[in-house]
Amino acid sequence: LSDRLTAALQTLTRKGKLSDADIDATAREIRIALLEADVALGVVKTFIARIKERAKGAEVSQALNPAQQVIKIVNEELVGILGGETRRLNLAKNPPTVIMLAGLQGAGKTTLAGKLALWLKKQGHAPMLVACDLQRPNAVTQLQVVGERAGVVTFAPEPGNGVGDPVDVARRAIAEAKHAQHDVVVVDTAGRLGVDEELMKQAADIRDAVQPDETLFVVDAMIGQDAVTTAEAFRDGVGFTGVVLTKLDGDARGGAALSVREVTGQPILFASNGEKLEDFDTFHPDRMASRILGMGDVLTLIEQAEQAFDQDQAEKAAEKLSSGQLTLEDFLEQMLAVRKMGPIGNLLGMLPGAGQMKDQLAQVDDKHLDKLQAIIRGMTPAERDNPKMINGSRRLRIANGSGVSVREVNDLVNRFFEARKMMAQMAGRFGFGGGGGGSK
Ligand code: GDP
Ligand code: MG
Repeated sequence: LSDRLTAALQTLTRKGKLSDADIDATAREIRIALLEADVALGVVKTFIARIKERAKGAEVSQALNPAQQVIKIVNEELVGILGGETRRLNLAKNPPTVIMLAGLQGAGKTTLAGKLALWLKKQGHAPMLVACDLQRPNAVTQLQVVGERAGVVTFAPEPGNGVGDPVDVARRAIAEAKHAQHDVVVVDTAGRLGVDEELMKQAADIRDAVQPDETLFVVDAMIGQDAVTTAEAFRDGVGFTGVVLTKLDGDARGGAALSVREVTGQPILFASNGEKLEDFDTFHPDRMASRILGMGDVLTLIEQAEQAFDQDQAEKAAEKLSSGQLTLEDFLEQMLAVRKMGPIGNLLGMLPGAGQMKDQLAQVDDKHLDKLQAIIRGMTPAERDNPKMINGSRRLRIANGSGVSVREVNDLVNRFFEARKMMAQMAGRFGFGGGGGGSK
């Protein structure tokens, strides 16, 4: 990638849409990256198709080469699919909130129970763990141990009564939680090495008995391609409202995250990355996206290229501004930049007496800005470059084209000329704009 990258960074003058060849070339690499990350094949296919579609409509960026641009789109799309902002845990209006854990044996449910308990406790909750895995002899003890480590109460069947009934334990646990005023109950369940009907039935029975507010499907990130079939089996057999990925401390690239999310539509809420109770965090889609892509340095490069380009733009604009050559295109760009407290905003802030101008620019609200943008986009490039040529009939055409009144076009053009004059004067007076522009 990087050879092409440096080469293409030197040809930033292309305009128009991204070409099919550009998109196809990068899409091939992305496809390989996703398959290497163990994303299920079907998911890779639909994902690539979606990316191609979106990339086709994209304008060629001035800051990035086509490959970078496609990767940027891929990354954005990945972050979007993985959940954008993380969803929070659903808490019941009438406590206790019941959280049920489901998943294959060894997925990390029991460990997660302890992690969740500690995490909830730190947030001021009074959680209780419930041992509903009565399948394996040690399962109850294991839960009691993590419960102790987390410093929370564990509800378990009395020893010596043979193999208890998990549904009965679950039911009694909820009653006990209400009685002892635990506001969150985490129900640990049994798992099998493979999906089987008996296991599903038991989980469904426990679910019906405790009516969970959240059922979390716990899945080992190392499971790779199998993630889809397992997730589908649990979705159909028990149903779940969220996903927890475990063992992210391993070397798995985490394709399971994308597969499970894409196939079940349920959000990933938490990530486990170690055996200790502290090795646990809410899920971060952006980190996972870059892990799945395995292109961390490329993503950093893209960010840097964009920042460098912004900087470049700002310097050019300052130069133009001081020589009174600001175009409407620059004007629009700068207004957009001010909204983000960009270069001109900062620049003006440093100039004595320029506060008023800055306020004026900063007052432009988003809706107004959209309109200004529509008007300027409705102009020909020649008009944007040389606003003096925008006469009466051109104003009428622009107004009709962008769905505004002629008065609004007039306002914009007049305001632009005023701003340009004022900025050139200020620049001259305070002598900024580098060696070239200077005072006249
Ligand atoms: P369960 O069968 O679903 O209850 O799974 P366990 O909680 O018993 O976990 C199975 C094994 O995986 C145990 O040895 C855990 O210590 C280990 N484990 C669980 N979560 C993680 C994790 O995030 N990272 C690592 N490295 N090991 C984990
Ligand atoms: Mg367990």
